[in-house]
Amino acid sequence: MTTTSPSSIPDQKKVGMVSLGCPKALVDSERILTRLRADGYAMSPDYAGADVVLVNTCGFLDSAKEESLQAIGEAIAENGRVIVTGCMGEEADAIRAAHPQVLAVTGAHQYEQVVDAVHTFAPPSQGPFVDLIPQPDVKLTPRHYSYLKISEGCNHSCAFCIIPDLRGKLASRRVDAVLREAEKLVAAGTKELLVISQDTSAYGVDTRHEARDWKGREVRAHMTDLARELGGLRTADGAPPWVRLHYVYPYPHVDQVIPLMAEGLLTPYLDIPFQHAAPSVLKRMKRPANEAKVLERLKNWREIRPDIAIRSSFVVGFPGETEDDFRYLLDWLEEAQLDRVGGFRFEPVEGAQANALPDQVPEAIKEERYARLMEVTERISTAKLQAKIGRNLKVIIDEVGAPDEDGDIGATGRSQADAPEIDGQVFLRDVGPDVAPGDILDATIEDADAHDLFGVPNSAAR
Ligand code: SF4
Repeated sequence: MTTTSPSSIPDQKKVGMVSLGCPKALVDSERILTRLRADGYAMSPDYAGADVVLVNTCGFLDSAKEESLQAIGEAIAENGRVIVTGCMGEEADAIRAAHPQVLAVTGAHQYEQVVDAVHTFAPPSQGPFVDLIPQPDVKLTPRHYSYLKISEGCNHSCAFCIIPDLRGKLASRRVDAVLREAEKLVAAGTKELLVISQDTSAYGVDTRHEARDWKGREVRAHMTDLARELGGLRTADGAPPWVRLHYVYPYPHVDQVIPLMAEGLLTPYLDIPFQHAAPSVLKRMKRPANEAKVLERLKNWREIRPDIAIRSSFVVGFPGETEDDFRYLLDWLEEAQLDRVGGFRFEPVEGAQANALPDQVPEAIKEERYARLMEVTERISTAKLQAKIGRNLKVIIDEVGAPDEDGDIGATGRSQADAPEIDGQVFLRDVGPDVAPGDILDATIEDADAHDLFGVPNSAAR
């Protein structure tokens, strides 16, 4: 259960939150909790102390729906008073069939409805000052990194995806509102901003890239302009925050953000969900920005910023994928030399167009291709990480351990090539006693395996 600290105001109603799914759902959970706290609610750290429990569900894959139903069942068993929201909320009938006891079901992005439901089933106590006290926003991530959601929904219609049905068409936030939120986060201690959406490179397409005044300048709602402004923010120690772009599709204008990495305004990292490489598969998948020459562009990007880290995800066993298509993907990966790769076996999602496609790939072949994909990508990852041994890297600290019997302290962090939760880690030995989460240290890399790096801070290097 994801929780924040409880309050001590007497009779204050308490809300528990179980947040499932992707970072976009986590941002929704934070917004809901921020709003509820402004309405006078406290957060309960456990089921037992909660007057009502919110379950923010994920409904993307059938396996995620199953997990959501289990979480709802657990919350009902432990507390009994449960409100369901999030992507799976679009399937209220399925939820009520499995768990008739739920108090209310609201869909993704329906902040008003979920807040109204909490008001109905756990009316707020009317404390005299609660509404007047300004409170910082609720964050469910550690203080030193934050997800920054720039838009909701998506204008594409990828054959395997139901996000546009769940979350609607692209709706971009105003650029000044995004920048204000980022500025607030950085002022409150965020050192790393993770820009998320369904399609970050399409930011502002729906508003015709409407410009807004920001600190006396006109700034367009456009990925490049936004990235430049985010890179211009300063943390308390005067450094620019790390800014990572996630869910970027390789439209031609993505080339424009690479020079920002060379200027140090943007972290040299791009998360591009390619999903496949074979043109026929991409066509059947109806992927956006499916164009040739991606390999050439990767090469150009690396010429501008040689240490750029590219993360991506790929699906094997999409309907109609032949052995030749799959080999094309493996050859492409050998050439692309991506830094981080997530692999998935195609899984039909209820309501997706792909389910009706002919030539579904048998499970055994999916498994076999998945194993081959993982073998290739692990080999590439191992070689890339080995090449970092002996180098100096900046490492942002996520966790500091307790001293061992010799008094040595270890810490876990990430390099600029590693986003939280999805990429590798850097394990540091012999960090100083004053090191804390959020510190950014210079470290020498001493060793590597297939996913992670091992090193020592330069100040403590022996
Ligand atoms: S781009 Fe495709 S996969 Fe991504 S949210 Fe839109 S429809 Fe889904």
